[in-house]
Amino acid sequence: MTGIALVNERTGTVVWAAELTHRGDMIRQKLEKRRVVRRNRRKHKTRYRPARFNNRKRPNGWLAPSLQHRVETAMTWVKRLRKYCPITDISMELVRFDMQKLRNPEISGVSYQQGVLFGYELREYILTKWRHQCAYCGAKEVPLEIEHIHPKSKGGSDRVSNLAIACHKCNQKKGDKHVEQFLKKKPEVLKRLLAQAKAPLRDAAAVNSTRWALYNRLKETGLAIETGTGGLTKYNRTLQGLSKTHWLDAACVGKSTPMLKIATTQPLLITCKGRGGRQKAVVNKYGYPISHRPLKPIKGWQTGDITKHQVYGIGRITPRSRGSFVLTKSDKTQKSVKPTDLKPVSRRDGYSYKWV
Ligand SMILES: [Zn+2]
Repeated sequence: MTGIALVNERTGTVVWAAELTHRGDMIRQKLEKRRVVRRNRRKHKTRYRPARFNNRKRPNGWLAPSLQHRVETAMTWVKRLRKYCPITDISMELVRFDMQKLRNPEISGVSYQQGVLFGYELREYILTKWRHQCAYCGAKEVPLEIEHIHPKSKGGSDRVSNLAIACHKCNQKKGDKHVEQFLKKKPEVLKRLLAQAKAPLRDAAAVNSTRWALYNRLKETGLAIETGTGGLTKYNRTLQGLSKTHWLDAACVGKSTPMLKIATTQPLLITCKGRGGRQKAVVNKYGYPISHRPLKPIKGWQTGDITKHQVYGIGRITPRSRGSFVLTKSDKTQKSVKPTDLKPVSRRDGYSYKWV
């Protein structure tokens, strides 16, 4: 999910916000399905064809289609918003944490003089290092606490290599016990934990190739672009006492974040829906065509068009070539309707919209 926020630079008012849900998974599944059908077709005994499996090259900076889609949809929304309002600057979160700032703590330790912001960068680093899961029980998606592997009370240091993250339960249970004592019955966990603690993250861990691709595309727009880290975003958000949502995070990206006034109460929830396939033949599991899809549009309608029905009201239409269309209401109930009873409200644009 990508958060988007429009902030008035002079007053710091968050005027509009959105949360964009991507469809990377769906793209992956569809390509996977196409691959299977294609493989199946090509392995059949047919006339000789020269081998053509090794004649393709990926260009520099190639991204998987499911990731490229994230870049493209984000760019679509930048373009659309520029049409409606005078945008001068873009702030984007480029990396999770600032690797430059964190160079030393792995070896030399963390001191309180480094400040609060540093603590946020550090936390992001440690969370990434331990893959956002409890180092002891592997719990995910629970509140995680930073914890000393060798307890401080027994001479453990503040170096990052001595810090791990743990769920509240494990942290309590461990208390100020030595790690060897705490994991006496789980030697394999102990071994993995000590190895992971010693291995510092490489620069690549902070960098996300998709975000870099987006950054390069945003530069092409000619707007002033500021980048921030995930640690800084979190710091700004906590400083202003805002709750953890994608759209509020978006408003908090970068050093230029002013004191925010939130003028909007909810983000527009945008979901990528795609624009349907172009495949003409429906194939069975052996890859043989069993039926053919009609030409779009059908009687002037396409899947995803929003329409108003005489009786059932507004909904999303799925046209069928046999005559009766399917109308999906906002509460997901479906009705069978006649195309002659429909009035157009808006044409599909590849996205669906709703409020919270
Ligand atoms: Zn745990």
